[in-house]
Parts: sequence; structure tokens; C-alpha cells
Amino acid sequence: MTTHAPQAAHTVTLPGSLDEAVAALAAMPTAVPVAGGTDLMAAVNSGLLRPAGLVGLGRISEIRGWQYQDGAALLGAGLTHARMGRPDFAALMPALAAAARAAGPPQIRNAGTLGGNIASAQPTGDTLPVLAALEASLVIAGPGGTRREIPIGRLLAGLDMLRPGELIGYVRVPLLHAPQTFLKATGRMGPGRAIASVAVVLDPARRSVRCAVGAVAPMPLRPFDAERWVSSIVDWDGERTLAPDALAAFGDYVAAACIPDPVPVPNPLSPHDSHAPHDGAEPGTLPPAVLHLRRTVATLARRALGRALA
Ligand SMILES: Cc1cc2nc3c(=O)[nH]c(=O)nc-3n(C[C@H](O)[C@H](O)[C@H](O)COP(=O)(O)OP(=O)(O)OC[C@H]3O[C@@H](n4cnc5c(N)ncnc54)[C@H](O)[C@@H]3O)c2cc1C
Repeated sequence: MTTHAPQAAHTVTLPGSLDEAVAALAAMPTAVPVAGGTDLMAAVNSGLLRPAGLVGLGRISEIRGWQYQDGAALLGAGLTHARMGRPDFAALMPALAAAARAAGPPQIRNAGTLGGNIASAQPTGDTLPVLAALEASLVIAGPGGTRREIPIGRLLAGLDMLRPGELIGYVRVPLLHAPQTFLKATGRMGPGRAIASVAVVLDPARRSVRCAVGAVAPMPLRPFDAERWVSSIVDWDGERTLAPDALAAFGDYVAAACIPDPVPVPNPLSPHDSHAPHDGAEPGTLPPAVLHLRRTVATLARRALGRALA
């Protein structure tokens, strides 16, 4: 179906399937896909984006639910945050449900989608650290009914971008059948963008704890050394609990890995001070705002792991 929005004279196409949507993008390469529109229409309304046409994804029922495939869940890119926040989804993927419930006010959660959150790839995207910790992959639909699959980390790191005319169709997430948590800190009370977020998932089959930190860098960060260390001290065959000082050490380890000390740079003006920190701070110290962020990440990581192990 094609309509014409009178004010902007934009072509709006509303395909009924993923392949029709890809075909619509191929037919009009200057058009952009729109799902819930919460990010895209904000850019249009502020004049940052003037798309020649829109390909609406809202009528594609095949990407609005999920199915099971080979021990994984195949989540449709059109799942809304509100849908992912419901109890049946939370029983399947508690951390992703928690992230979806934390993503903005209700109007945003009713319209905003998983695929839009990933494609926007904003540092504050709440589903992103969870998907990174779960080691999810993206099933990408391309021209001629083609499908290719890439780890989400490669897209978020810019190592493997969406090619023109491609759409995120599904997100493949391994079902771990173990506790997982997501915690977010915001700068104000109530719904808001994250200043830091932490996802922790337990993977008993691989005897590993996986963690990802969101919002403190352009993409979610995985503190691999901290993950390996804490995985080695969890009693996977026993109670799986950790003492408070071990949880605190994990939090500090994660925070220091994601928000490292400033790297000293040589100061060419001072022969006696050849390794002054670049921001003028004393070696080993951080500016107060950065120190506060590091403490926030440490607290989130400590609590997230404690809740996952509780
Ligand atoms: C007031 C407000 C508060 C917000 N708060 C939060 C928050 O707390 N946490 C958070 O994570 N986000 C937040 N957001 C951001 C936004 O709601 C989410 O990123 C949302 O998930 C975007 O989904 P959408 O379906 O609306 O994407 P759209 O706006 O429709 O699209 C966003 C981008 O993704 C592309 N796209 C969409 N679907 C696909 C697809 N299947 N394949 C390829 N490209 C695609 C579009 O072309 C566009 O470039 C907030 C937004 C607003 C306006």
C-alpha cells in the first residue's frame, strides 16, 4: 500500500512482509525504514532528517513476535518495549524484559521497537548491553530474500554495518535458563536515559558470568578479565553465592576496566614532567564526574551480580 503525506509530499509505503519491505527500499533507495518512529520522527521533527520516503514496518506481523529455534529464541525486530516487558517474555529473558521496562515513558515503550533500538545504536540504548552480554546475533534481511547473520557486537562496533536496503529482521538470543539482571542509573527520578547501565547473565553450561556496561562509551563494553575472574570463583556445582567482598571486588574490577585511569601523555614543555596526565589531574586520579561515574558502574555491577546469584 502506498499513500502520499500531503504536507511533505513524502511517499509512505506500508509493506506486509519483510521481503516486501526490502523490495520497497530497493525500489526507492532514498527512503528510510521506520518502525515505532520514536527516534526517527524526533530527527525529522527537529529538521535533522528529511527522508524522501518512508517504508513503515508496523504492518509486518512476522517480526512482531518470537519463536524458538535450536535452543535459541528468534525475536522479531518489531517487538515493542511494552511487549517485551510483559511477564511471559520476562520469564524467557528477564534482563531484556527489565531493559525494555526501563526504556523511557509508556508512550515510548508502546511504540519503540527492539529493531529500532539496535539500528539507532545510541549509547543509551537500554537493550544493547543485555544483547551484548547474551551474545545475541542479528538476522539481516537483504534483497532477493537473502538472509545473513552477524554478532550484534560487530554491528555496534561499526565492523559490519547494515548495507543499503537491508533490514534487521530478527535477533537470535541463546536461551540460557539461568538468572540474568539489568540495572540502570539515570540522572533524574522516573524514566530517563541511562548515565550507566549494567547487564549480568549467568551461563551455567559454560560456567561463565557475562557482563556488559552500557552508556559509558559509544557501544556496550564487555569487561572480559573481570568476567573470567568472577567465573573462576563461583561454585557452579554448589550454592553459586559470593561473599559481599567478592561482589564488591567484581564491581570495582568492572568499573576500572570500563572507565580506566587517564593515560599519561608526554609533556614536551617540561623535561622533568615527561608523563603528565592529559587533563592536568594528578597521576592516578580522575575528575570528580568521572570518579562518580566509575562508582556508579561499580555499584550497578556489584548489585547486578549479587541479584543474579541470589
Ligand atoms: C522521549 C524519549 C525517551 C526515550 N527513552 C529511551 C530510554 O530510556 N531507553 C532507550 O533505550 N531508548 C529510549 N528512547 C529511544 C527510542 O525510543 C528507542 O531507541 C526505540 O527502541 C527506537 O525504536 P523505534 O521502533 O521507535 O525506531 P524508529 O524511530 O522507527 O527507527 C530508529 C532508526 O532505526 C531504523 N530502523 C528501525 N527499525 C529497523 C529495522 N528493523 N531494520 C533496520 N533499521 C531499522 C530507522 O530507519 C531509524 O534509523 C527514547 C526516545 C524518546 C523520544
